[in-house]
Amino acid sequence: MGDRSAQEIWDTALGELQIQVSKPNYRTWLEKTLGFNYQDKEFVVSVPNTFVAEYLDKNQRSLIEKTLISLTSSPDIKVTFQVDGRYKNSSGTYGTEPKNLPTAQTCSPRFNPDYVFDSFIVGSCNRLAYAAAQGIAQNPGHIYNPLYIYGGVGLGKTHLLHAIGHLALARHIQVICVSAEHFTNDFVKAVRERKTDEFNSKYRNIGMLLIDDIQFIGGKIQTEESFFHTFNALHNANRQIVITSDQPPKSIPLLDKRLRSRFEWGLIADIQPPDIETRLSILQAKAKQREVNITLDVLEFIAQQIKQNIRELEGSLNRVVAYAKLFLTSPTIELAAQALDNISSKESKGASITPGLVIEAVADSFQLAPVDLQGRKRDKDIALARRVAMYLIRQETNSSLAQIGQVLGDRDPSAVTNACKRIASDIKTSHRLRRKILDIQESINPQTKSQKH
Ligand code: ADP
Ligand code: MG
Repeated sequence: MGDRSAQEIWDTALGELQIQVSKPNYRTWLEKTLGFNYQDKEFVVSVPNTFVAEYLDKNQRSLIEKTLISLTSSPDIKVTFQVDGRYKNSSGTYGTEPKNLPTAQTCSPRFNPDYVFDSFIVGSCNRLAYAAAQGIAQNPGHIYNPLYIYGGVGLGKTHLLHAIGHLALARHIQVICVSAEHFTNDFVKAVRERKTDEFNSKYRNIGMLLIDDIQFIGGKIQTEESFFHTFNALHNANRQIVITSDQPPKSIPLLDKRLRSRFEWGLIADIQPPDIETRLSILQAKAKQREVNITLDVLEFIAQQIKQNIRELEGSLNRVVAYAKLFLTSPTIELAAQALDNISSKESKGASITPGLVIEAVADSFQLAPVDLQGRKRDKDIALARRVAMYLIRQETNSSLAQIGQVLGDRDPSAVTNACKRIASDIKTSHRLRRKILDIQESINPQTKSQKH
């Protein structure tokens, strides 16, 4: 097979890959690549820019290597992705620029290579924001402008913003992605150095503007004014604008009224804290990505502990894995409980939520008396309510398994673990039970409610 050129092999590989990856994925990341060189088991693929290189390297390397191995019947091949200016131009011929030419990319924003659409887990909490982000990434400037995404800390706003940015870059759209804080500093500096013209042309002559955490500019009158004009210039030219914030436009303190109304022109999409299924899927995806061996019940346990913040959810997984490594064991629920002890206590912001409060709320919801839950009766209803109480005390307070067992009729910690596991699995199939538990949570935790507008 030695005489086939790298390009011939790559063309065949692309044919295979086209079947194996989704269409948008293929178009964005693979279509504009070339087989550059194949020598000594090293296959060099030429790609249009560093973002494509990073993406492919991180996400598709093994698939590509497998495909190449099967095509060449070589026992192993290492693939590298190289940006070298020799990619197809629009007429389909190959460019001939010498290597290492400085490219326009040197001044492009660096997007986090992990923050791509493929790695974003979609659930009911973020489906709208995800779909809208994909929609505008595929058809910028024409569907909703601006797209305004808001939600609490660590729920994926920046992830979606960068995912949009990656696609824009792959399509050679000139994009700026900055935090509102950066924008403000940039503006202040431009004013100080009398370079506002430069500033204006930098932000207004682009194909797409991605602004993270816009709430920061509320009350900064001159920056708001400047942003207002930037917004108008881009919007008039059908350039896509995407804005993220921790709250909807109407709730940002001191936000200029004109800006608020602009922000409401397009689509406002919220991201809510993830439900238990989404948290579990995220943990499964991260565990798989890091190739760590961890059982489903331990993941479930972690998912139960961290509810408000996906970054902390990932952090907790890392912590449990690190703990297990430290103690040279595989991660168990007990170990996870130990590893996460003070993290979950930080989460339960309502330090005022006590086991007694939860028991009361659960009893109330099941129309029982608290003593029923704390007693020994085993009627079906009471047993269910008791399990729910165990599960919720575990979620909402810092009580240990032993303490929970104790307040609910001196039961064994393992009974508490079982009850928690059972509820976690029941709410996957029973919509009614899930609703009921959410209602109880809202009743003891009014903050969760006020997030929805
Ligand atoms: P925000 O900007 O809303 O504070 P980030 O976008 O920084 O949050 O997300 C925090 C972390 O959680 C990041 O590592 C991100 O990749 C991860 N993350 C958030 N949402 C998801 C999701 N739906 N699927 C996978 N990872 C997610
Ligand atoms: Mg962010």
